[in-house]
Amino acid sequence: MKPKVAFFSFTSCEGCQLMFLNLEDELLNLLGAVEIVKFREAMKEVTSDEYDVAFIEGSITTHSDIERIKSIREKTKILVAFGACATIGGINAIKNFQPLEDVRKYVYGERWDFYDTVPTMQVDQVVKVDAAIHGCPVSKKEMLEVITSLLLGKTPNIPDYPVCVECKLAENVCVFDKGMMCLGPVTRAGCGALCPSYGNKCIGCRGLITDPNTNAQKDLLEEKGLSVAEVLKEFRMFDGLSEVSK
Ligand code: SF4
Ligand code: SF4
Ligand code: SF4
Repeated sequence: MKPKVAFFSFTSCEGCQLMFLNLEDELLNLLGAVEIVKFREAMKEVTSDEYDVAFIEGSITTHSDIERIKSIREKTKILVAFGACATIGGINAIKNFQPLEDVRKYVYGERWDFYDTVPTMQVDQVVKVDAAIHGCPVSKKEMLEVITSLLLGKTPNIPDYPVCVECKLAENVCVFDKGMMCLGPVTRAGCGALCPSYGNKCIGCRGLITDPNTNAQKDLLEEKGLSVAEVLKEFRMFDGLSEVSK
């Protein structure tokens, strides 16, 4: 029997689900290996309320989100958080830097107290997560790596070294030399240094590497006269939750 797979969306733009649908060359093979039972962005109907693997997109931002994610966790064998909103809070975490009441008034105006909201949480702050797919949006390559590894019962091979490593392999000109601040020295690789390859700075959408104080690309930072702490200060756009927890 093929494993049943369901997709769920929380606070997000749903761009990561779209990336799954963009797996044009691999989608038919994948559909031969799994049965998708719920996928609002692609299917009109839910074909089963039972599932083995739940893909979670988006952050947890309301009381009802908390109850919903807990109920999904109880039903599924494997829970995969995919995309920056789900794995690190992503852009949604920006609201945690302001008083929640001010944010509600700003967004909802006079009816602000009608709308449920809690400080943004990444999924593993509420329930156990079995695998994470990083990025805003996720990369197709990494999505395939995680899905095929789960099907084979293997641990997915997710990089835990800085974007600078991939950037140097791509022989890019370092954007620090163009006067930009780049988060590549502390950001988890896996995107192939996408932004610096197009002349832009890395803004950290794949989240921090494990223990940046030890594993950052320190030689490059020293060369640019920067410390790890100074770069981490810039890490608010996608990974504000890591700053809140420091
Ligand atoms: S990680 Fe980015 S692309 Fe994915 S749902 Fe969140 S905002 Fe959208
Ligand atoms: S700092 Fe940025 S541009 Fe420079 S090598 Fe690292 S990732 Fe590339
Ligand atoms: S270079 Fe940085 S911001 Fe750009 S895709 Fe990679 S991790 Fe994300």
